[in-house]
Amino acid sequence: MNEKDRSRLREHLDKVRLKGRGRGPAGRGPGPSKWIVEAALKRLDAEDYGVCIECGREIDLARLKDQPLSALCASCQQKIEDYLVSCG
Ligand SMILES: [Zn+2]
Repeated sequence: MNEKDRSRLREHLDKVRLKGRGRGPAGRGPGPSKWIVEAALKRLDAEDYGVCIECGREIDLARLKDQPLSALCASCQQKIEDYLVSCG
């Protein structure tokens, strides 16, 4: 990720944080909790933003732009969603 992308994401996250809540996933429910936004900002500061916390691979930039709070790559996210669904 380059500096430009990074600062753009930081701006976006700051806005979400100030608003208190952002756009919920696909219009479902309320926006992200404050701690999720702050965790994302912390990762951005620590420069490990954009890396999947599960498998350590880089998260797709397109995915980050769409879901800047995501800490998981698409495949890990899918795995967790499958797991949650199987748990009911
Ligand atoms: Zn992953």
